[in-house]
Amino acid sequence: SFPAEAVPQAPEDPLFGLMRAYKADTSPDKVDLGIGAYRDDNAKPWVLPVVKKVRIPFFFAFSEGTGTCERWRNCQTWKGDRNGAVRNSALNPAMVAEEILRNDPERNHEYLPIAGLAEFTSRASELLLGVSSAPAAEKRVASVQTISGTGAVHLGALFLAKFYKLNGANRTVYLSNPTWANHNQIFTNVGIPIATYPYFDKATKGLDFEGMKRALAEAPERSIILLHACAHNPTGVDPTPEQWREIAEIMKAKKHFPFFDTAYQGFASGDLDRDAGSIRHFIEQGFELVIAQSFAKNFGLYGERAGCFHYVASPAADAAETTTRVASQLAILQRSEISNPPIYGAKIASIALNDKALFAEWQENLRTMSGRIIDMRKGLRAKLEELATPGTWNHITDQIGMFSFTGLTEDQVARIRSEFHIYMTKNGRISMAGLNTRNVEYVAKAIDAVVR
Ligand code: PLP
Repeated sequence: SFPAEAVPQAPEDPLFGLMRAYKADTSPDKVDLGIGAYRDDNAKPWVLPVVKKVRIPFFFAFSEGTGTCERWRNCQTWKGDRNGAVRNSALNPAMVAEEILRNDPERNHEYLPIAGLAEFTSRASELLLGVSSAPAAEKRVASVQTISGTGAVHLGALFLAKFYKLNGANRTVYLSNPTWANHNQIFTNVGIPIATYPYFDKATKGLDFEGMKRALAEAPERSIILLHACAHNPTGVDPTPEQWREIAEIMKAKKHFPFFDTAYQGFASGDLDRDAGSIRHFIEQGFELVIAQSFAKNFGLYGERAGCFHYVASPAADAAETTTRVASQLAILQRSEISNPPIYGAKIASIALNDKALFAEWQENLRTMSGRIIDMRKGLRAKLEELATPGTWNHITDQIGMFSFTGLTEDQVARIRSEFHIYMTKNGRISMAGLNTRNVEYVAKAIDAVVR
């Protein structure tokens, strides 16, 4: 029989353990700088206005007749007089979205195709590669809807575990040191060996570019290199466009295989195209590569699990055929893993991505989120410098995206938690989105106290 008594206790996921401890803390001063989810200036989750608008038809369905639907009342855009709001032509984008959904013959609870919602995956790939890109025109992109970014990394890892062993290629995946902790377990679970390349320079709290280049140059040919497309998690440190060019050159010379993970497009700079710059450069250089794409952060669709995995073939006469074969294998893997991806999040993102007015509004929402985070970076740095806190704090504003590596030691992180009720991961990473105009000074003073 299955010896279940031999199954060892696994440790709790550190991030979710941190979240649990924060919830249990009864201090009115507590601050959550742990989890990587956007919060507004009131420390509340932010449902993007564009997403609310896309959701309108669901509100109608639920609130018909009673007008008391909880979700309806939570929808601030439409708070109050529902009929009045509906008549208000100033809210036109919502009406557009409603029309689109109402007329959508697929609006039901049937299975999506194995590869997911085509109008979602094709727009998702355009977001990364640009509209009318060469790979799309040459039919050398295969896209599969996944269980958010995690599912995309997993599907990619599984695909490589099965097929990345031809021509004596090195199956090891090189991860940045540090990286998103889940990368380690995802690749380990599918049997791909892991190595690391230096990334974060503790002294400058910036990129260890020389170390990174050396490691890429020394890695055996055809290694798999995992790259964060933008807004590196956990450090908030990204290569410059010039550094990306150098990275691509080394990888090309070594025939390495790029595996891009992009979970923060639009979140880093507020500009979708700029945040896809690294990927587009590699595409222009003719790399064959894969991309794991998440819509959790940039659409605020965390729990809806909307994401995509993309394979892009190098330009070659038989690239389209290669891509077709890859797509067929991805479909087989997807079938055995999840059969079909979930509808709701993909549908919302798809409507917003495919409608001009809603797309423009989404871009505006992205600027709101990235702008608030940039303001918080400036605010935190200014307060620390005002307090003359020992050390330099320029890295807080130099780093981008949701996270910052503060440089606090494990002991300081423990102290700031026990004495000030401020929660962050023990490597000193803070989620900038946890800061707001009310707590930024408190956090700065707490950092000052534990650093002195
Ligand atoms: N990749 C990176 C680097 C991340 O930071 C995250 C989320 O934190 C993900 C992938 C996947 O997130 P999700 O599965 O929620 O899309």
